[in-house]
Amino acid sequence: MLKRRDILAIVLIVLPWTLLITVWHQSAIGPLLAIRKGTNDGTETRHETGPATDSKEYCSQDKDIVEVVRTEYVYTRPPPWSDVLPTIHVITPTYSRPVQKAELTRLANTFLHVPNLHWILVEDSQRRTPLVTRLLRETGLNYTHLNVETPRNYKLRGDTRDPRIPRGTMQRNLALRWLRETFNSNSSQTGIVYFADDDNTYSLELFEEMRSTRKVSVWPVAFVGGLRYESPKVNAAGKVYGWKTVFDPHRPFAIDMAGFAINLRLILFKPQAYFKLRGVKGGYQESSLLRELVTLSDLEPKAANCTKILVWHTRTEKPVLVNEGKKGFTDPNVEI
Ligand code: UDP
Ligand code: MN
Repeated sequence: MLKRRDILAIVLIVLPWTLLITVWHQSAIGPLLAIRKGTNDGTETRHETGPATDSKEYCSQDKDIVEVVRTEYVYTRPPPWSDVLPTIHVITPTYSRPVQKAELTRLANTFLHVPNLHWILVEDSQRRTPLVTRLLRETGLNYTHLNVETPRNYKLRGDTRDPRIPRGTMQRNLALRWLRETFNSNSSQTGIVYFADDDNTYSLELFEEMRSTRKVSVWPVAFVGGLRYESPKVNAAGKVYGWKTVFDPHRPFAIDMAGFAINLRLILFKPQAYFKLRGVKGGYQESSLLRELVTLSDLEPKAANCTKILVWHTRTEKPVLVNEGKKGFTDPNVEI
C-alpha cells in the first residue's frame, strides 16, 4: 500500500522530469522535423516545417498530478527526417486482393515512425491502381510508386520444371533497377536497401539495426521454415558461420527475404545483381541475389548477434466473403 508520503515523494521526483522532457521536446526535436514528399516519377522535394507545437493536458485525480505530453506530429504525421542518417529504401511488392489496403495501411503506420525512410512500392499489375496511388499520397510518406505485372500462365507445354516466377520477384528486381537508374555510384548519398513484403510485421528497432549496414546485415526471422524462428549462426567472434534452419541449411544463404539488408553502394557497384526469375528452387530466391553481392564472411549480424526477434513472417488470413454471392451483396463502389 502506498502512503500519502510515498505518493508525494513520487510526484516530487516525476514532475521535474516531465517538465524537462516537455522543454526538450520543444527545443530539440521540434526544429529537427522535416517533411520529404515523393511523387510518382520519383522526384523528391524537401520542405522544412517549423518547430512542432506540443500540447499538454493535465488530468488531476485525487491530488496525483499526471502530465500527458501530446506531441503534435504523431497526429499530423510528417515523417521524421535528418540530414545525417542514411536513407532506408524499403522495397515492397504488392498485388490486388481484398486485404491489400489493410496490409498497406498497417505497413504505412509502421513506416511513419521511421526516420529517413523511402518506400518503393511496386504493384504487380498492368497499371498503377487508383487505390494504391491514393493510399500512398495520403500517408505523407516519401515514396516511389512503380508497377510491373508478373506474366500469368507462363507454363510451357511439356516443361516439367516449375516455370512460375516466384511471388514478388519481378517487382523487387524493378525496384533494384530503379535505384541503379536513380542513384549514381559515385554519389555521396548513403542508403540501405530492405525488402519488406506487405504482410509481415516489423518492429521499429529493426530499422535502426539495419541503418548501420556496411555491406549486408542479417538477423533472425520468426515464423519461417516450420520453426518459431530461423536464424543465422553466429560464433564467439561475432561472425556468421552457418544457418540455424531445418529446411536445407546448406543453401548459400538460408535466410528469408525479411532477414537481411544491403548497403545501397553495393547494389550500385554490382549492377548485374538481380533475383533470378526462373529455374530457382524454392528457398533459393534470396541466395540467388546475395551470392552476387557477398560471401558468408562479409555478413554483419544484427539484433544483438542474432539473439533478438525484430521481424515476423506473419501471413494474413484470407477473409471469408461467401455471403457476397456471385453478383456481390455490398456496394462495389465502396473501397475496402
Ligand atoms: N506478391 C505479388 N504478386 C503475387 C503474390 C504476391 O506481388 O502474385 C507480393 C506480396 O504482396 C508480398 C510478396 O509478394 O509482398 C510475397 O508474397 P506472399 O506474402 O504471398 O508470400 P509468402 O508469405 O508466402 O512468402
Ligand atoms: Mn508473406
